[in-house]
Amino acid sequence: MPEGPEIRLAADRVQAALAGREIETIEFAFEHLQPFADRLRGRTVNCVDTRGKAMLTRIDGGWTIYSHNQLYGRWYVCARGRTPNTGRQLRLAIHNDRHSALLYSASEIDVLRDDRLHEHPFLARLGPDLLSENPSVSELVERLQSQPFRGRQLAALLLDQGFVAGLGNYLRAEILTLAKLHPMRRPRDCSKAQLRHLAQQIIRLTRRSYRTRGIVNPPSLVARLKAAGYTRREQYRFNTYGRDGEHCHFCDGTIEQAQIGGRKMYFCPTCQPGD
Ligand SMILES: [Zn+2]
Repeated sequence: MPEGPEIRLAADRVQAALAGREIETIEFAFEHLQPFADRLRGRTVNCVDTRGKAMLTRIDGGWTIYSHNQLYGRWYVCARGRTPNTGRQLRLAIHNDRHSALLYSASEIDVLRDDRLHEHPFLARLGPDLLSENPSVSELVERLQSQPFRGRQLAALLLDQGFVAGLGNYLRAEILTLAKLHPMRRPRDCSKAQLRHLAQQIIRLTRRSYRTRGIVNPPSLVARLKAAGYTRREQYRFNTYGRDGEHCHFCDGTIEQAQIGGRKMYFCPTCQPGD
């Protein structure tokens, strides 16, 4: 399941193909959206934003195309008029003079006025997006200390897109390890310094994963692991996620796995003591 950094990278590809260019034709597979094709033709795409796992294609004149890939949706960018070799169902096609951006298999697509975006049921409940809205450390600390979130276990809170948008299972595990916090801790059990450190790791690791296309370990550690003969990306990109039974790179501990809320949670009991 893609997390914020993977969604942002997909949005970058679509943005590079569409931004600053006029839409020559646009096709919607869903009948109720087809009337919008005429209204959007000839308008310029401004940018492509992300809100958690949703993508917002911003179009001149106050229009936004909302799309959510769920599990199967996938964007392809091709030279104008070409189509990828896929058995998927085409749901949305945006063509300009050079490129075609094609969205396959996604079932959640909508065309919205910018001033009504906040009313959209998915967008309305999202926290700030870590890669499009760039919340600050102090804003995140304030959220961690606020009534709806301060009593929640960190393992569940970090996956809640209403807290911040863009974290998933691998980022959650690595953030909590580097923040040295046990997954069952709650913000209200943490000192202000711990919350600041946690907020810094949330921002830093999400941006790093975006920049490095999914390598979450600190660059100095990655260099050391590669020098020590780790050759496969799976071996050096994470410290904790998917590495239960393996040696922690930050201490002498062994990574453990626990089922929390039906999902696998990985942590280092030495770096992240229970109390
Ligand atoms: Zn450790």
